[in-house]
Amino acid sequence: GIDPLNTLAVEVVVEAGAEALPLVPGLPDALFESDGQLTKSEVRAVTLAALGPRRGELLWDIGAGSGSVGIEWALAQSDNRVIAVETRAERAGRIGRNAARLGVTGLTVVSGEAPAAFAGLPAPDAVFIGGGIGNPGLVEAAWDALRPGGRLVANVVSLEGEARLAGLFQRHGGDMRRIHVSRLDAVGTMHGWRPAMAVTQWRVVK
Ligand code: SAH
Repeated sequence: GIDPLNTLAVEVVVEAGAEALPLVPGLPDALFESDGQLTKSEVRAVTLAALGPRRGELLWDIGAGSGSVGIEWALAQSDNRVIAVETRAERAGRIGRNAARLGVTGLTVVSGEAPAAFAGLPAPDAVFIGGGIGNPGLVEAAWDALRPGGRLVANVVSLEGEARLAGLFQRHGGDMRRIHVSRLDAVGTMHGWRPAMAVTQWRVVK
């Protein structure tokens, strides 16, 4: 039989103009329509490694933005599923378009605010928090829903987000790291390193 992922790769080759869709996470940012709220390729690759998708697992992508993390989760294994929770309606619509464009079918968009939007959702094998970590009860509700042995990964860029992660680390343990990425950019006729905001990441296994 034909691997459906390879079929999709061929479709993207046509769409993106002779560029093959890589089969490991960290897809080019340009493959995702976004309004700037996008986990960039390098950080996305590290984040997917931290989430550690296994076949048939369900991810909650909370504060899904453009949906890139959940979409890469779904692409990683052919029968993976993802529930993308996004509070801003125009972004929720964009997540569906990005998934469709990359041939992802196992993605459900929940247009609403976490943690209220968690009501009635099936228990996840992994949780990614890309937004809303300051919302009262969000982490607690996600942690309660997470299956035993499941992974929780949260990325923040703000001081307030870091303060929240510090408290969570002290209570639940896990690992923390900071990811600094600089990309080469044009500076006049020359080039220089343009640093992105550092991303602080917390990972814990239930
Ligand atoms: N990982 C995403 C980017 C996340 S940006 C990507 O790669 O595209 C953070 C997002 O979290 C924003 O779109 C914001 O609207 C959303 N958000 C913030 N608080 C939220 C909440 N309580 N519930 C749902 N979404 C939330």
